[in-house]
Amino acid sequence: MIHDSETKEKVARLRADTPACETVVHFNNAGSSLPPRQVVDRVIRHLRLEERLGGYEAAEKVRDELDDCYAVIARLMGARPEEIAITDSATRSWLSVFTAVSWREGDRILTAAPEYSSNLIAMISAARAHGVTVERVPSTADGDVDPDALRTMLDDRVRMVALTHAPTNGGLVQPVERVGEIVADSPALFLVDACQTVGQVPIDLTTTGVDALTATGRKYLRAPRGTGFLAVRRSVLDQLTPVHVDLDSAWLEDGRVRLRDDARRFELFERNVAAVLGLGEAVRYYLDVGPEWAHDYVTALAEHLREQLTELPEVTVTDIGSRRSGIVSFRAETLPASEIAGRLRQRGIHVSVSHASSTPWDMVERDLDHLVRASVHYYNTPDEVARFRAELAAILR
Ligand SMILES: *Cc1c(COP(=O)(O)O)cnc(C)c1O
Repeated sequence: MIHDSETKEKVARLRADTPACETVVHFNNAGSSLPPRQVVDRVIRHLRLEERLGGYEAAEKVRDELDDCYAVIARLMGARPEEIAITDSATRSWLSVFTAVSWREGDRILTAAPEYSSNLIAMISAARAHGVTVERVPSTADGDVDPDALRTMLDDRVRMVALTHAPTNGGLVQPVERVGEIVADSPALFLVDACQTVGQVPIDLTTTGVDALTATGRKYLRAPRGTGFLAVRRSVLDQLTPVHVDLDSAWLEDGRVRLRDDARRFELFERNVAAVLGLGEAVRYYLDVGPEWAHDYVTALAEHLREQLTELPEVTVTDIGSRRSGIVSFRAETLPASEIAGRLRQRGIHVSVSHASSTPWDMVERDLDHLVRASVHYYNTPDEVARFRAELAAILR
């Protein structure tokens, strides 16, 4: 698919929207991707409006477009606009949902090996504070979370199943649909960290049994930094009392605090309006590009990159899982990951380094410390993969 002429023409058009494609090979899309010109222009235009009018007056002018940001994210996620809250990061989104659960002593949380460290830190803190247990669901031989093992662990005390859809440190895509079916038969809340998948792997809340999902703007969605969102099913909102609320998410009535009855109970009043408009623009752009096409292309290009890497004798690809994302991770016997990333950078190629500290359970289990992470997007090309392979071979020689 990545080599056919129709695809090549489409990718060329998308690259023309992304000026930096001319100057760098950007394989750091799991860190922060290159935004399209349309997104950057939208942000700047609003900053200029704020310069002329003042922040409140400028926000009033774009009120309809701000409302539409919720609608367009809802469309992307198979949710309703009232089920969306816009925040400033994935972690903020995840923590808002997680801490909104009124934990009881004896509650159980089930999670999996490649869980993101910030999420684990919150879970283990809750375990200490509330007498909750945090348990790891075993993985299959392929490295996926094992749905059958999960089924046997579920009981009425499991209050939450927390799963990262695709981990930060490699190509795994977890079987959230299967997990969702299993969790749906229990009272547990199913919270999905979709930070690395939104923008590359389509996911639809109406068909997956996910109760709440969190994401960031700057990764595969190509939105501005400092943006994120969460989607929470209306049916579970009553169980969630946000820890941090303000005059926008709550009000006082007869001396009592009343919460908004939609997902915006998770928001605070102040926001970077220009960045939020940029987020909306990025989602619209992605929907225009076509999520299914983007997924097929990114998956195929990443697979091509893995094949190329396997041909270098010094390199070991460390990706696991029966289904793979656009994230390709590897190590070389002869050179530390940071050294490889640094030398690639000097040659105009951007990758990042995954440290054990960001996915501690998985990395310790597999005896890994540092990995090079090369994450491709739909604006990357087979030619860039060839150049990457050649430069890497030269570095390792
Ligand atoms: C990057 C990442 C996060 C954190 O996203 P922020 O927007 O920086 O808060 C959370 N989970 C996963 C899996 C990530 O890769």
